[in-house]
Amino acid sequence: MSDCIFCKIIAGRGSSQLLYQDELVSGFRDHHPVAPVHVLVVPNKHIASVNDLTSEDEALMGHLVTVARELARQEGVDRSGYRLVVNTGPQGGQRVYHIHLHLLGGRQMQALVGSMD
Ligand code: 5GP
Ligand code: ZN
Repeated sequence: MSDCIFCKIIAGRGSSQLLYQDELVSGFRDHHPVAPVHVLVVPNKHIASVNDLTSEDEALMGHLVTVARELARQEGVDRSGYRLVVNTGPQGGQRVYHIHLHLLGGRQMQALVGSMD
């Protein structure tokens, strides 16, 4: 996808330096971090969102999590803990429609508690 910012970064044509790349996935720092460690892990193939995944992508998504775990170790947050987030669609807070895993760590995350009121 030529107009996708994450496809550009994966191809080495974006402003973000890659932290990790293999034949299936890439990792790079979020340019507006919300935690001391904020890395995005993305498939090299353009998939817009979780809603666009097919059964053929199951191994790819498993690999995405494995790479996120490895990057958490590299970033030194594997023991302290971290959060993996995949925002999906407008109410899920997704802004970039190339599926990505947020790896967030280095500070205390709040529990997902709230009220429906
Ligand atoms: P979303 O809201 O779609 O789950 O997350 C998109 C994330 O991508 C945001 O946290 C935003 O800061 C990050 N982002 C958007 N454009 C760029 C970019 O050009 N480079 C990098 N490194 N991060 C980006
Ligand atoms: Zn893309």
